[in-house]
Amino acid sequence: MMKAIIFLGPPGAGKGTHAKEISSILNIPHISTGDIFREAIKNQTELGMRVKEFLNSGKLVPDELVWEVVKDRLNAEDCKNGFILDGFPRTILQAELLDKYLSERNADLKVIYLEASDDLVIKRLSSRRVCKNCGAIYNIISMPPKKEGICDICGGELYQRSDDYPDVIKKRLETYYKETQPLIDYYKNRGVMYTISAEKDREEVLQGILKVVKDGN
Ligand code: AMP
Repeated sequence: MMKAIIFLGPPGAGKGTHAKEISSILNIPHISTGDIFREAIKNQTELGMRVKEFLNSGKLVPDELVWEVVKDRLNAEDCKNGFILDGFPRTILQAELLDKYLSERNADLKVIYLEASDDLVIKRLSSRRVCKNCGAIYNIISMPPKKEGICDICGGELYQRSDDYPDVIKKRLETYYKETQPLIDYYKNRGVMYTISAEKDREEVLQGILKVVKDGN
């Protein structure tokens, strides 16, 4: 059966970090809409041009455009046994479009909600660094690379996302509360949501997620 896992939660809760780990453990692809958009911007593709301003200002890319990108990605061969969504859905409309897609395929859906306070996410986002080359995520306080500014995995250069600067962080959190938080009730009501505190240390959070994705409790 097709296994669909959604990571939900505010920016900085650890969605990307844990989605990557779970992806390699379960051997199903990790799909991050934010990564897809950043890659398109870097490569100056048509998609990149269309989404750049939204990312730079911490606003959401319009639903129709996001769904076009996600649907194409989900239709790829490597998603046929399942996939992990990180940063999608972010609005009720996106969730409805996804629901329709999943029910047509009889997929098994689990939503992992990573719960984190504003204080924690602001702290995490401002100390987050990302590898330019492989996308690995570091934190200069809690999870620094062995050598400053260099990725442990591939030796790539680490950078700070332009939307991780304080003024954009504030806007992204506002957007989250307004547009994305309603999804918590949406999925809770469907009985497919599992809440995990993101305030604990990384290993403990990972174990909590694994328990859910492996046996559903
Ligand atoms: P993320 O890497 O998930 O923090 O996403 C970075 C930015 O990409 C967001 O602030 C939005 O501008 C855009 N974005 C990513 N995913 C979505 C989505 N599902 N819907 C709308 N915009 C998105």
